[in-house]
Amino acid sequence: MKEYIDLRSDTVTQPTQEMREAMFRAVVGDDIMGEDPTVRELETLSADILGKEDALFVTSGTLGNQIAVMALTNRGEEVIVGDTSHIFNLEVGALAALSQVQTRPIEVPTGTYSIEKMEELIQEEGIQRAKTSLICIENTNNLNAGFVVPVENINEVCALGRKYNIPVHLDGARIFNAEVASKVSVKEITRHVDTVMFALTKGLGSPFGAILAGNKDFIQKARWIKQRLGGGFRQAGFLAAPGIVALKTMMPQIEIDHHHAQLLGKGLSAIEGLKVDTTRIHTNIVTGSVEALPISIEDFLSKLMDAGIKAKRISKTSFRMVTHWGIEERHIKETIRSVEQIISNL
Ligand SMILES: *Cc1c(COP(=O)(O)O)cnc(C)c1O
Repeated sequence: MKEYIDLRSDTVTQPTQEMREAMFRAVVGDDIMGEDPTVRELETLSADILGKEDALFVTSGTLGNQIAVMALTNRGEEVIVGDTSHIFNLEVGALAALSQVQTRPIEVPTGTYSIEKMEELIQEEGIQRAKTSLICIENTNNLNAGFVVPVENINEVCALGRKYNIPVHLDGARIFNAEVASKVSVKEITRHVDTVMFALTKGLGSPFGAILAGNKDFIQKARWIKQRLGGGFRQAGFLAAPGIVALKTMMPQIEIDHHHAQLLGKGLSAIEGLKVDTTRIHTNIVTGSVEALPISIEDFLSKLMDAGIKAKRISKTSFRMVTHWGIEERHIKETIRSVEQIISNL
């Protein structure tokens, strides 16, 4: 099989040797009966890292987000979501399909929420109005940008939520990228949010799952909804074990990923005609546009593919490249060289 430099997403990683060994050795039990010690260890460790009372291991970030919404809303109510957020764009309409709530999107162009705008979007109960019952924020923010939301801004959103008695759910799929980039601990970032989800399968490089956390009552309810949706686990310690390794060993890799994203952004932005705004690179995601070049995004990506490099198309003229475990400095250099070559041959 041909070896590609795969920059489409940080979800394409292979587990580390230590993760594979931990899977092999995991002590397991029936998790629905509360008897899988490895799952419980991952949940306890995660709750501790997040500074929350309890946590729940779930199959995916999507399920974690959707369980949170189901637990915190009633049918017909409204949820404020970021216009570029995953929960709004990439969860197959689950807010409508599962929780039967409607969304009210807020623009978040640079990863900071406008508190004034958000306050205007809050609907108080009235004879013709759907009550706002949840605010969903995202950090890092924007599917294709990975912006860091300043912790002060998160705290302002939470204060607004408290003012109107509306809980705040944080989609922190890449929260460890936010921690590394902002040098603010995950615990500080999540201090005032009611509930939080993070993915084990993005920068952390684990092969499976996500964590949902909050207070004890919330997690009890979440556990029950997870079960109802068919998400209950039996001997899932095999899947939790690499997650524990990920939390304990992968933080330095995230730092490296960010360094690689900077190198990549710098190299690509120096190429004549290619548009790459390096000020938008906060974490491990680099975006670029071919709009000023005589080539379509499809042709550009297919030439890149021929050169052994995979990137993801994100609009009619732009692409993204995401750095992760398995991508080394030589891959970054090769990518820059290949893009240079493609563009100089136009
Ligand atoms: C990846 C991602 C999710 C969903 O995670 P899955 O495990 O793929 O379901 C949710 N939110 C954000 C911001 C993500 O990047």
